[in-house]
Amino acid sequence: MREKYFGLYTTGKIPDRNKPTLESIRKSRFEKIETPFHDLSELPPNAFEQKTIDECFRALKQFCDAIDEPDVPMPKPNQIHILPSMEYHRLLEKVGEDQARSRAEQTNGMVHKGHIYLKKLLDQNRFAVVLPHEVAHVVSFQSEHVAFSWKGVERTDRQIGSQFLTKPKDGEALFSGVHEIQTEMFAMGIRHLMDFSSLGLKDDPQLHNPSAYLTHFIVWTALLKEIYTAEHGLGYWMTMSNKDLLRGTYRVLKAMETKNKGTVKILAAMGSEPEDALEAAQALGLDQETIDTIKQLLETLE
Ligand SMILES: [Zn+2]
Repeated sequence: MREKYFGLYTTGKIPDRNKPTLESIRKSRFEKIETPFHDLSELPPNAFEQKTIDECFRALKQFCDAIDEPDVPMPKPNQIHILPSMEYHRLLEKVGEDQARSRAEQTNGMVHKGHIYLKKLLDQNRFAVVLPHEVAHVVSFQSEHVAFSWKGVERTDRQIGSQFLTKPKDGEALFSGVHEIQTEMFAMGIRHLMDFSSLGLKDDPQLHNPSAYLTHFIVWTALLKEIYTAEHGLGYWMTMSNKDLLRGTYRVLKAMETKNKGTVKILAAMGSEPEDALEAAQALGLDQETIDTIKQLLETLE
């Protein structure tokens, strides 16, 4: 169901069709959280994992307050499911992931229908890094209430953040790279406020640096720097990017488009694989130094 609302489109169950309130739309987002897969055997979080989840949620609340989004619906601990690696593999098969086996080896977590599934990790630092990324996905899933009606680009029911489909039926994902980078940027905000020493973790660069989508991160920050203006610094645009993830708005993309016509079309097509960012950087005409940095990074990722 699609409703016209203040010139933008919203989806979801709206109790009063004539007077949708932001609150009612937000609520509809919660109604979409389905029950998790009960036939997967989960592991109860161990003491470290539980403390990390609690600390992540605390930092998330602090971060949302800091970016002036205090009403963001917080996820609940029962939306987090830790799975042994065999079960994580089964999950990827169940959700129809292509090449489930290799994806299960390469990835450590995913969000499906409002639930976070994490592969059991022995590396504690890794767990503390992966968790905020998946939490950021679920938070954006829960909080988005409006979405674009970009010419010809329509939103489908289950998309989160700035991920849209051209035609819902053909399943071609748009903005999937942008969505991931915004998610990781949001996760970095959470990690920045997490007290890792209280979890017994030694300081480690991976706790503070982008943990995934590194090539995309380079493209996105290069574009943010282009819309950097004297009165609105880079920090402002990073904050706006985080707000866009929560609100499903397109303020940052619009600013980028205003600066350089054609940017949005290229970003819409940028997928989430590392080399997709290089292709986008070249199409965007980013400077040679940026392109070389991405190329060097790609070599280390191979
Ligand atoms: Zn992700």
